[in-house]
Amino acid sequence: MAMQYISTRGAAPVLGFGEAMMTGLARDGGLYVPETVPVLSKAEIAALAGASYEEVAFRVMRPYLGGFFGDDEFRGLIAKAYQGFHHAARAPMVQLGSNHFLLELFHGPTLAFKDFAMQLIGQMMQAALAKTGERITIVGATSGDTGSAAMEAFRGLENVDVFILFPHGRVSEVQRRQMTTPSEANCHALAIDGDFDDAQARVKDMFNDFAFRDGVRLAGVNSINWARVLAQVVYYFYAGTALGAPHREVSFTVPTGNFGDIFAGYIAKRMGLPIDKLVIATNQNDILDRALKSGDYRTNGVRPSISPSMDIQVSSNFERALFDAYGRDGAAVAQLMGEMKSGGFKISQGAIESLRGTFASGRCDEDETLAVIARHWKTTGELLCPHSAVGVKVAEEHVGGAPMVTLATAHPAKFPDAVQRATGIRPGLPPHMADLFDRPERVTRVPNDLVALQAVVRERIAH
Ligand SMILES: *Cc1c(COP(=O)(O)O)cnc(C)c1O
Repeated sequence: MAMQYISTRGAAPVLGFGEAMMTGLARDGGLYVPETVPVLSKAEIAALAGASYEEVAFRVMRPYLGGFFGDDEFRGLIAKAYQGFHHAARAPMVQLGSNHFLLELFHGPTLAFKDFAMQLIGQMMQAALAKTGERITIVGATSGDTGSAAMEAFRGLENVDVFILFPHGRVSEVQRRQMTTPSEANCHALAIDGDFDDAQARVKDMFNDFAFRDGVRLAGVNSINWARVLAQVVYYFYAGTALGAPHREVSFTVPTGNFGDIFAGYIAKRMGLPIDKLVIATNQNDILDRALKSGDYRTNGVRPSISPSMDIQVSSNFERALFDAYGRDGAAVAQLMGEMKSGGFKISQGAIESLRGTFASGRCDEDETLAVIARHWKTTGELLCPHSAVGVKVAEEHVGGAPMVTLATAHPAKFPDAVQRATGIRPGLPPHMADLFDRPERVTRVPNDLVALQAVVRERIAH
């Protein structure tokens, strides 16, 4: 039977892969997850070692498609998605310490790991729309990197308008310019008066307004979109098999905000990759670390940090982990998410034990982040972006018998101020974006108000 997708809140239509990709958020407010997770055999996993990134991508993702794309077509989409990366290995690994490795996920066109999923989703959505001749409106919220990756992936595509909401004044200048400088008419950068959680909440509101949603054919590319999570599962297998899986266990530490990237690691584990520890690394916005340690998932306000892509309190994808931890009880998850409106909820004893069986966690404050960047520049010559530094610090507290892989989520040049503060070195942009600061910007300032935002979207797509 073809792979089907169900909502974490249990009350939305069951969909195939193509529909789940185009829909984004489920109509009951939940997130789509595969009804069953395919498991790769030990032999299949062993055979991934030494294969190209593209080949690993094909073999890991294919079982999830339910035949939505033919094999040759899917191989072609993968090839196009990763041809714009600036490293032949796509996701090269360097060694930081005796049992500690850094997986560099920042060689894509916008210098953050988001490119891995977004470039592929751009190709897949375009191919899907070409089949039906439909037109869609993509609306996404970003703490910085999702927006730039989405603009880059969708700029100039035929049947798509892309609107990106980012918190005004709270993204780095490189991030902002990556969103505001594409000149294509289908790209719309919106600076919202609010923080990332406000932006994300307004996007969710748009999806929950069904008349608006259907009227503009809304599609989502935030990490609530299953296809994005899926594309990120690939590099866990790629790195894990390079370090000896399935014959030995491997651990991963993931700088975490919206829980999309680390959830992909959880899926890799369920697919059979022998992952020992899966470590959540947070900055001073540490709701996930607190929740795992105390069992209480409670917001306490976002404090802007030098790792802004993780300045998040409401981690959307955590809902997917809760769904499994609550034995896939959609009604229970819906109730918890309802309690979020009053600031948080207590995770049940069974669920917290289940989560602790899979995930560990740690936090890294601002001074520690700078100190880690400085220390690694001196001792390993690796220039870490502040997000990757958060990961490295927490990973160092968790290195054990299995090799530890820390995900380096962005290029240091994307956050030059923090890197310069820590090391005195101002990392330069790679050649393909050397003129970023000379390109004209185009941005619309918008209030934190659903009706006003909807009006902007309607007006822009009418042209
Ligand atoms: C998005 C992002 C993160 C957080 O990833 P999630 O999937 O939201 O947990 C971490 N670092 C960087 C650089 C990012 O862009």
